Amino acid sequence: MADLNSIYCPKCRCHTNLIYRAGYERSITGGKYLYHAVEECNNCQQHFLTIRLNGQYGKKILKSYPESLPKTVNSLISDSVKKDFEEALLCQSVGAYRGAAVLARRAVQLICLDKGAKKGEKLHKQIEELFDNNIITQDIKDWADEVRYIGNDAAHPNKEEVNKEDSEDILELLESLCDVLYVAPARAAKRKQKRKGMAE
Ligand SMILES: [Zn+2]
Repeated sequence: MADLNSIYCPKCRCHTNLIYRAGYERSITGGKYLYHAVEECNNCQQHFLTIRLNGQYGKKILKSYPESLPKTVNSLISDSVKKDFEEALLCQSVGAYRGAAVLARRAVQLICLDKGAKKGEKLHKQIEELFDNNIITQDIKDWADEVRYIGNDAAHPNKEEVNKEDSEDILELLESLCDVLYVAPARAAKRKQKRKGMAE
């Protein structure tokens, strides 16, 4: 996720640091300050108006105009999974944490189906099936289960509330799952093909 000074630029679609150009501060309650500033993408020079809060932990971006984009999803991930993952990130970027968690869980279910799990089963069974068939390791099973648990909380009214940190965590886990199951194998296959081409 973006740190204090970086955002996903809506113009060049890069994860970029913002360069401070001009601004002023105004004190608010609790000894804190709001900074209104003009800042610039260090990749494409798009300008932003930002509002930052200077609390105990530094100057955190509260708002930017134009708004930051959610980070992009790797194009090597299967299309069906990618669609839900992107929508989950979009939910996260506008503070819809429950929506993000439910969509992350849906993405895990789509991964299971894509990797050959039985249709119509409960998600925990589908994850187990992939583990039993040696398609995923114990580690990956654990990550998928964590996304499933928080996704369940988000989907049912009598369960725990899902906060920003919860949904952030499971989006990171979903990203790791996708890296291991789609991105790394595709990269390795590409390397292998290149190596074979050079040997001929
Ligand atoms: Zn930019």
